[in-house]
Amino acid sequence: MERQSPEEIKAYQEELLRRQLLYIQEHSPYYRRLFERHAIEVAEIQTLGDLVHIPTTSKDDIQACNEDFSCVGREEIIDYCSTSGTLGKPVTFGLTEKDLERLAYNEMRSFQTIGVKPGDVVQLMTTMDRRFMAGLAYFLGLRKLEAGILRVGSGIPQLQWDVILKHRPRFLIAVPSFLLKLIEYAEQHNIDYCNAGIEAVLCIGESLRDASLNDSVLTRRIREKWPLKLYSTYASTEMGAAFTECEAFQGGHLHEDLIIAEVLDEDERPVPDGESGELVVTTLGVQGVPLLRFKTGDIVRKHVAPCVCGRNTYRIGPVEGRKQQMVKYKGTTLYPPALHDLLAGFAEIEHHVIEISHNDIGTDEIVIYISTKETAAEFLSQIKDRFRAKLRVTPRVERRSSEELQRVIFNPLSRKPVTFIDKR
Ligand SMILES: [Zn+2]
Repeated sequence: MERQSPEEIKAYQEELLRRQLLYIQEHSPYYRRLFERHAIEVAEIQTLGDLVHIPTTSKDDIQACNEDFSCVGREEIIDYCSTSGTLGKPVTFGLTEKDLERLAYNEMRSFQTIGVKPGDVVQLMTTMDRRFMAGLAYFLGLRKLEAGILRVGSGIPQLQWDVILKHRPRFLIAVPSFLLKLIEYAEQHNIDYCNAGIEAVLCIGESLRDASLNDSVLTRRIREKWPLKLYSTYASTEMGAAFTECEAFQGGHLHEDLIIAEVLDEDERPVPDGESGELVVTTLGVQGVPLLRFKTGDIVRKHVAPCVCGRNTYRIGPVEGRKQQMVKYKGTTLYPPALHDLLAGFAEIEHHVIEISHNDIGTDEIVIYISTKETAAEFLSQIKDRFRAKLRVTPRVERRSSEELQRVIFNPLSRKPVTFIDKR
């Protein structure tokens, strides 16, 4: 289907949407109430354009009425996933047998998009437990694709290298900045990493491209040392689906039978294709917790120009930031990923944490804590200068010990490294 014309893809999505709406009408306590309150007849929602008649769903709505979003009884739920709760309290997503099959299919397609074939071996460098949906999805997807998986989990470069050298995986699944740690460890221990047999990495959690789809500083730094193919994938528990880059590296392709994506402005009107706005998704084929027009809070762009790979599905560019994490600084607005990427340009920095707070005069203040072996006094000014030149902000930069920052970053209560603290 992804190679059919955009019109055929749209017609197919509309058919799936109508089916999902009938299911929701019958089974979802939350949406039944919503339809009643707004006098919505689901039979009248026929096209993607008709979706505007349905009010959006926010994270707050799901947090407030988590149980009412579930369309099935406990006896049908197999896996109880939860959101990470980076912003707000975590919510539970119960997955049925059919949902797990959907998740496996989704991830199988993502792996196929980056070139994984049956019999390939893939090393997983993220957690599979802690109710994390992505780790489970990778396992299920590779199993469905009939590829092999090495479930090493996150961190511990030594262990990662032991497994790589013994089992020779062709692919890794990793947070991109962790690849720098793998390189560093390999260099210290004389491991010939460029000839270790790894060809490509499915990268999660950090952007590999900037808003114009060019390689980020982090991507360039990794590839200068280790010329791997780095594919970006973007997913969330709420979507239960991923947008994954093909060999063109120009944004992640939509899986047309799993998700409908809109990009909306502050007033919930669609932005023109290629312009930034909030990603709003409607899930297709979900049984447990289907969502209609869910506001992800992620700022992205939709790219509709034909892709050289031959797929006709539109693509979603990198997450430029989270709406809630927008920083307002003397007339400039920016998001943490741009700050992180600028810091990635300094090889001397071991760890960093960005802290945003409100000052007395009501504007945002940026403090950057770094650990580094570079002791020169000018080093901190160099960092400041680059911020001023590239992003037009002047953060305060302070040194901290490596141990102190690691305690903050690798918080045992968090599934993901904590490098951004919002005190506003
Ligand atoms: Zn493509």
